[in-house]
Amino acid sequence: MNIAGARILLTGGGAGIGRFLVERLIADGAEVAVLELDELKCGALREAFNGQVKAWVCDVSNAQAVDDVLEAIFAAGFEPNALVNNAGLIHSEPLVNVLSKSERVHSRDSWRTVLAANLDSVFFVTSRVVDRMLAKRTKGVVLSISSISAQGNAGQSAYSAAKAGVNALTMTWAKELGAMGIRFAAIAPGFIDTPSTRAALSEAAITRLKQQIPVRRLGDLESVYQAVKYAIENDYINGTVLDVNGGLVI
Ligand code: NAD
Repeated sequence: MNIAGARILLTGGGAGIGRFLVERLIADGAEVAVLELDELKCGALREAFNGQVKAWVCDVSNAQAVDDVLEAIFAAGFEPNALVNNAGLIHSEPLVNVLSKSERVHSRDSWRTVLAANLDSVFFVTSRVVDRMLAKRTKGVVLSISSISAQGNAGQSAYSAAKAGVNALTMTWAKELGAMGIRFAAIAPGFIDTPSTRAALSEAAITRLKQQIPVRRLGDLESVYQAVKYAIENDYINGTVLDVNGGLVI
């Protein structure tokens, strides 16, 4: 599929990786619509791209909100042939915090919130968008931003489980829908230099981390875009998880 002329729906486009992908996809000639939780970020997106980006406020972890917004988007005439599931919530918490006197065990609320933001969201949005593509006889591609944490990252039970689930869905749907002209791929970044990474890790932790990464640096946003572009444009990529991690093994 050519990016130029593609109609791409992207979740969580208001910040970080998603915001960068919106910018690069538009520059390469795609038409882009965004589902974004934060109303202010939606406004900023519309302004930054002079109305070229259609930004819709939606919590993609809420099934009803997803159904409602997609109905409105289709009614407004936007028929996606590509979906990028990018919205997510990075969360670190040990299974049992032996140093804590109370609340030793991983919170069940945070487990549910993290699974909802990273995995339920992919299921809710993809199922409706793929159904629409099939109804419209549209050939398409669905990408999901996974993570190196899908390999099992100590201290990230919920996030690792959610991203492993995203990889499993990618492989499952690739087999179910390939014959109908819809491809699936996941992009699994390692540690990318984003405000969310800088907020989650201290400067000392980042310095230590860089020593463990074979290329000795955090990933840049452009390397994630290059993987997204490749997965969209190469029509023989299906059911693949593309690692973008500088060779880091966790
Ligand atoms: P970020 O927090 O900077 O941006 C996420 C965006 O998604 C925000 O605009 C946020 O408002 C939006 N969002 C969050 N939950 C949402 C919801 N329920 N509904 C709609 N919008 C929602 O995050 P990021 O670092 O850019 O990460 C983007 C994706 O990449 C995530 O799936 C994350 O797990 C994955 N990832 C990031 C890194 C990294 O190093 N930053 C590494 C591996 C994977």
